[in-house]
Amino acid sequence: MSFISMPKNFRKNKADTDPKGFVPNSMIDTLFDYKTFLDSRDLNGSIALKAPEQQKNIAVIGGGASGLVAAYELSKIDNIHVTLFEAADRLGGRMDSVYVQDGDLNQKVFELGCMRFPPTSYTLYHYLNKFGLKATPNFPDPGKVPTKLLYENEVINWPAGQPTPDNEDFQRIGDDFGKIINFLLGDASAPDIENPSKLFDYWAIYQSDPTEQTKQKVVDAWQGILTQYVGVTYFDAVFELAQNRLLVSRPWTQEDMNKFGALGVGAGGFGPLYGVDFVEILRLFANGWEDNQELLLDGIGALTQAFEFALLDARTASGKPKVSIELNAKVKSLVKLAGDKYALSVSNNGGQVISSQFDSVVVATTTRAMEYMGLTIANDLDSCESEKSQDLISQNVKVAIRNLHLMNSSKLFVTTESKFWYPENNPQGNELPFNIQTDELMRGLYCLNYDEDVDGKPNTQGKGVVLISYVWGDDSSKLLALSPEERFQQFLPAIYAVNPEFAALLEKQTQKVSCIDWESTSNIYGAFKLNYPGQEQSNKDAFFQYQQENQGLFLAGDSISWAGGWLEGAMPTGINAACAAAKYVGAKVIDNSPLTDIAKNMYDYGIGSNTGFCTLKESGFLSASSIAEYQFGQGDFSIEATVRTLSPGTVVGNKSTAGGSGGYLLVIQPDGSIKFATDNGETYYQIESELSDVKDGNWHSVVAVRKDGELTLHLDGKLLESTQSGASNQSPLNVSNSLDVLIGSVQQNQEPFIHYTGDVSQVRLWRRALSEQEVASQYEQGTIIDKEGLVAHWPLAINTDDISENENNVSVNGDVTFESVS
Ligand SMILES: Cc1cc2nc3c(=O)[nH]c(=O)nc-3n(C[C@H](O)[C@H](O)[C@H](O)COP(=O)(O)OP(=O)(O)OC[C@H]3O[C@@H](n4cnc5c(N)ncnc54)[C@H](O)[C@@H]3O)c2cc1C
Repeated sequence: MSFISMPKNFRKNKADTDPKGFVPNSMIDTLFDYKTFLDSRDLNGSIALKAPEQQKNIAVIGGGASGLVAAYELSKIDNIHVTLFEAADRLGGRMDSVYVQDGDLNQKVFELGCMRFPPTSYTLYHYLNKFGLKATPNFPDPGKVPTKLLYENEVINWPAGQPTPDNEDFQRIGDDFGKIINFLLGDASAPDIENPSKLFDYWAIYQSDPTEQTKQKVVDAWQGILTQYVGVTYFDAVFELAQNRLLVSRPWTQEDMNKFGALGVGAGGFGPLYGVDFVEILRLFANGWEDNQELLLDGIGALTQAFEFALLDARTASGKPKVSIELNAKVKSLVKLAGDKYALSVSNNGGQVISSQFDSVVVATTTRAMEYMGLTIANDLDSCESEKSQDLISQNVKVAIRNLHLMNSSKLFVTTESKFWYPENNPQGNELPFNIQTDELMRGLYCLNYDEDVDGKPNTQGKGVVLISYVWGDDSSKLLALSPEERFQQFLPAIYAVNPEFAALLEKQTQKVSCIDWESTSNIYGAFKLNYPGQEQSNKDAFFQYQQENQGLFLAGDSISWAGGWLEGAMPTGINAACAAAKYVGAKVIDNSPLTDIAKNMYDYGIGSNTGFCTLKESGFLSASSIAEYQFGQGDFSIEATVRTLSPGTVVGNKSTAGGSGGYLLVIQPDGSIKFATDNGETYYQIESELSDVKDGNWHSVVAVRKDGELTLHLDGKLLESTQSGASNQSPLNVSNSLDVLIGSVQQNQEPFIHYTGDVSQVRLWRRALSEQEVASQYEQGTIIDKEGLVAHWPLAINTDDISENENNVSVNGDVTFESVS
C-alpha cells in the first residue's frame, strides 16, 4: 500500500540536525526499536537466552510474512520443533511475486501484493540484509518520474522531480495538505498557531536522549492526536482542518475535496479511504512509510524463498529437521485438549485430518481467515476429550477479529515486449509518461523496470512491466465483476486520453496479463487492515493479545498490527508471537523484548468516556489491591467516577470499620447529596454536598478532591456547594491503609449506604488535587488533560483493566457485568 508522495519540506525538524529531517527508529504506537532487538537477537543466536528443558512442538498457521518470521525465530531455539501449516500451494501469502522469464535478462515480476518498501521498515530490512537481498530506490512514484494526471478529462503534466503537478489547484491542495500534516505532527515548519502537537520535535529529542521524561512527551503528543481523531473519518478530519485559514491558503470547497479524493496531491486518490479513521492515515506520515519507496529487483518472492530455505535447513544438533512445512494444509479449526495440548483439524487437499498435538500455536493469518477458523465462536471441546470448555482467546479480542476493517484492493499487471516508455525504445524517440494517475476506474498506472541499472543509467533492454491499475476500496468492488481482459479494454480509453502514443504501444506490446482482487482471494479474503473510526481500541486488544493470553495461542499478522498494508506491520507481530510462544513453552526470552518493553497502556485508544461500562448489581463490586501509589497520607488526592445510579451507595470506598485504619469514602446518598469522608482510623472529617440530580437515572461525573486539607465535590464538571457535615479532627487526616480500593462498596460497617447499584465507568484515582478548571475541562472534553499524578484509571469499558502506568486491574466480586456501547 502507498498513497502519496511526501509533501515538500516535510519532516524538517527543529530538534534534528540531520538535513534530511527527522527519521523515526520505531513505530509511534509501540515506540519499540525492533532493529536494536533483532541486533541483540543476532548476537545471542536466537530470541531465547535459555531453551525449554524438554522438546516442545509449536504450530504456526499461515506462511505469509508474519508466519514465516515467527517460524524462523522459533526454529532458532533448541528443543522447539515448528510445523508451519499453509493453506495455499505456496508460501508468502500477500508477498506474492509472479515471475515471467525474459531470456538472459533478469526475470520480470508482477508484485500482486506488496511491491514498494520504505527503508523505515526496519524489521523487513533486517531480514533482507540477513539473506543478502538488496532493495533499489527505483520505484517510479508519481513526480519522481515523468507523470501525467487525468482529472475530469483534463490532462495535467507533472514533470519528474517537481513536488506537485503543473496545476494551480493541485499545487495548492498539495501545499495545504502538507501544512496540515506538519501542523498535526509538530514539524518545526508548522504554522505557529495555537496548540501544535510538536510530536516530531519531542520524538527527535527522545531518540537522541531516551529517558522516561522525553518518552512521555512523545506519548502525550500522540495521545493528543489519538484523543482527537480516533472517532473521526479521514474525510471529516481533513475537511474540518482545511477550513482553518491559518493552515490553508483558502478554505477547501466540495470541489477541493473531490480533487483530493480523486488524486490526492496528484498521486493516489484518497476518496476510497475517506471512510477510514484519520489516525490510520496519520500513522503513515508519522512512521515515515511514505518516504523513499524502494523495490526488490528479484521480487519480494526472493524473501519468501530465503525464509523457506532457512526453515528447511534448520537442524537439531543431531541433524534432525527442526521445521516441517505443510503446504495445501488448511487449518479448519483448533481445540485445546486435556493436558494443555492443541490439536488442529486440517483439510489436506480435501481430506480432513486431525494433526499431531502442539504445545502452543501461532495463528498468522488475516482476521477474516481467523474468523473462518472459528476463533470467534465458543470452543466446544467435548468432542475432543477435553476436560472443560474454555475460550482460547478473550471476548474483546474476538470482537476485534470480527470487526477490524479490511480494505479491498485490485491490481492488473502486464508485461510488454519492450520498455517502450524510454525514448530509445519508441519509434518517435519520445519520452512517454512512466506514471499515470487518473480519476477514472484504473486509477494508478506504473511503468516498472526490474533490471539493474547499467553504469548508473536505467537498463532499457528487455521486457517491461506495467502495473496498469492499482485500486482500493469501492474502486476494487467496481471491478470485481470484470474479467482481466474486460478491465484492460475498460482502462484503455483513459490511457488513450492521456497519451495516445503510450496507449497504442501498450495495446500492441502487451503479452502476459495478471490480475488479482484480494478480497476474493482464497485464504486471504481482503487486502489490508485500515480501521474504521472507533476500531482503534479493538486494534489495541488484538495487537496486545500476545502479552495477555495464557492459553498458549498467539495471533500475528498485519491485520492485527499498527501498520495494516505494510510488511512492517506484519513482521513485528510475527516476532511478538514468537517471543510469547517461546516463553509459553518454557524458554527464557532475551531481555528488552516486545514482551516487556511495549507498554500495553501507553495510549488510550477509546472514543469518549462512555464507550462501555460495568453494571454493579445487588452486592456486586470491584476491588483493586492496595499499592504504594494509593497511600495518600495527609496529602492531596482526587477521586473520579462516572455513574448512572440505580440505587445510592458507596461509589468508591477505601475504609475499614471504625477503630481500624484510616481511609476515604465517596457516597451517593438517597436524598441526592454526595458525601466525601476522610478518616485516620481514630478521627474523621467529611463534607456533604447540596442536593443534586446525581441519582436521576442519567450518566453523571462525580469528582471528589482534597487540596491542602480542603475537601470539595464536583458534579458534571461543576463545583457543588458543600458543607462540613461532621468532624472530630482537622483535615487533612492520614488516609493511608493497606485495604483494597472498592468500587461500589466499602468495608466500613458504620456506613449506612454500603452497596451502590448501577452503572459505573471511568473510575480514576489521582495522587494530586485536580483543579476546578481541570475538572470542568475533563468533563467537557471527555479526556484527561494532564496525566501527572494519575495512579489508577479503570475505564471499566469491556474489561477490568487499569490503563494507568500501574496496571493494577480490578477483580470482580459478585454480580458484575460489562456492557460495551457501540
Ligand atoms: C495489494 C497490496 C499491496 C501491498 N503493498 C505493500 C507495499 O507496497 N509495501 C509493504 O510493505 N506492504 C504492502 N502490502 C502489505 C503486505 O503485503 C502485508 O502486510 C503482508 O504480506 C501480510 O502478511 P501476513 O503474514 O500478515 O498475512 P498473509 O500474507 O495474508 O499470510 C497469511 C497466510 O495464511 C494462510 N492461511 C490463511 N488461512 C489459513 C488456514 N486456515 N490454514 C493455513 N493457512 C492459512 C494464507 O494462505 C496466507 O499465506 C500490500 C498488501 C496488498 C494486499
